[in-house]
Amino acid sequence: MHAVSGSRHMLPSRMTHENQPLQPSPPLDGEPAPAPAARTRDAAARRVDIAIVGAGAAGLFATAWAGRTARGRGLTPSIVAVDGARKLGAKILVAGGGRCNVTHWQVADTDFVGSTPPAIRKVLARFTVDDTVTFFKAAGVELKREDTGKLFPVTDSARTVLDALVREATGCGATLVHPARVEAIVRDADGFLVTTSAGPLRAARVILCSGGKSLPKSGSDGSGHALAMSLGHSLTSPIVPALVPLTLPAGHWITELSGLTLPTELVLSTASGKRTTASTGSTLCTHFGLSGPAVLDISRHWLVARDRAASAGQPPVKLSINWLPETHTGAVDDMLLESRGRGPLAVLREHLPDRLARRLCELAGAPTTGDLPREPRKRLVTLLTGTPLEVTGDRGFTLAEATAGGVPLSEVRLDTMESRLCPGLHFAGEVLDVDGRIGGFNFQWAWASGFLAGTAAAALYES
Ligand SMILES: Cc1cc2nc3c(=O)[nH]c(=O)nc-3n(C[C@H](O)[C@H](O)[C@H](O)COP(=O)(O)OP(=O)(O)OC[C@H]3O[C@@H](n4cnc5c(N)ncnc54)[C@H](O)[C@@H]3O)c2cc1C
Repeated sequence: MHAVSGSRHMLPSRMTHENQPLQPSPPLDGEPAPAPAARTRDAAARRVDIAIVGAGAAGLFATAWAGRTARGRGLTPSIVAVDGARKLGAKILVAGGGRCNVTHWQVADTDFVGSTPPAIRKVLARFTVDDTVTFFKAAGVELKREDTGKLFPVTDSARTVLDALVREATGCGATLVHPARVEAIVRDADGFLVTTSAGPLRAARVILCSGGKSLPKSGSDGSGHALAMSLGHSLTSPIVPALVPLTLPAGHWITELSGLTLPTELVLSTASGKRTTASTGSTLCTHFGLSGPAVLDISRHWLVARDRAASAGQPPVKLSINWLPETHTGAVDDMLLESRGRGPLAVLREHLPDRLARRLCELAGAPTTGDLPREPRKRLVTLLTGTPLEVTGDRGFTLAEATAGGVPLSEVRLDTMESRLCPGLHFAGEVLDVDGRIGGFNFQWAWASGFLAGTAAAALYES
């Protein structure tokens, strides 16, 4: 087990130095004395001011800001961040293909789904993209904006981001302990008893930054959801993978186009055909189905809509793909009409890869050369602008970049990220019911909510 510690200073009277033996605290006035079993556990508990559960993006950020806030008041904080992962920050290291897409130059509530847009907006407004850029610059990480609007470190290395976060978190005196799983959190009159695989902690405040269920091998296996529920919180339903590739039936014709990447529009509609959500961008045809940004962005919408329709006993929702996203149905029809003589394949090949163009002609029963009769032309137009996708499912949390669903924001005070149900408990990051589209939005959520939770938890240093 590693313990990465920050520098040590003299402690103010109320705080316990991490290297000192931890003393059980007396019960608060008027509170019942703890039961004998609890007293035994408490006697061994290491006393800290703030315990942070999970040291991923949100946890490291919350740790850094809790420490900074305490230091800003001239105090040396006693803060411990506990993470169960063998490799700290694994998700940061793999993010953005190893380059870490830290944020996006423009972030709005419309880039997210989950709890209500006004609630998401309120949190995002407290720590903006400019704040993120300033934070990382001061931490030695210059960010650059790419044509897509995504911001990456100029080093093109996620390691730079992780190292800076660890430096910032420990530089203010916090300790990172890993690998150590948090197994239980109990709230009592004396604050929180946090049971970890490295021993118990007694904390005045807890920040739960345990992530969701995506990429479980990175340590985010959903155990934070159980911890939140044990402290009185609910979870939204359903909880499904987000930013996840979708599967098609084995042998589906699209799987035979494996390796093909092209711009598309994916459209989700109700059983009656009412369009509800769309996403545009690149789609990758694979041996199992579909991937690429447009598919990843719409995946959580499809999964949630499918589950909700099923549980309401409604007919299944529909997902379709427009292979010519810039072109509406009438224009596609005109394009084929004007192709007289050249044949549809020659026309389609100007816009689509040959393999796809041939397959669509075949499926529409359209000749590849010569005249195109009205009926096959209509079928071809329908397929080009809205091929129905018989999606069978998704590739699971193992291959998902985020989690849709979690602790609802309605159970959290948005100015402090403190629980409305369990005073002293704060939340940050993906454990909450917020997920963003591809582009650095999920990290921006982790930074904004981590900042709020960390600074607010450190308010205990005011007393
Ligand atoms: C492959 C991949 C690429 C991505 N790329 C990007 C990108 O480029 N840009 C972007 O914005 N987003 C990206 N994301 C999403 C982003 O990484 C997450 O949204 C973000 O990391 C969430 O931060 P978090 O701190 O809330 O949770 P996590 O990063 O999941 O961290 C949670 C931490 O809590 C720990 N933990 C959980 N339970 C316990 C427990 N019981 N005890 C102790 N520790 C526990 C885990 O070990 C983990 O370290 C990517 C995700 C993946 C999987």
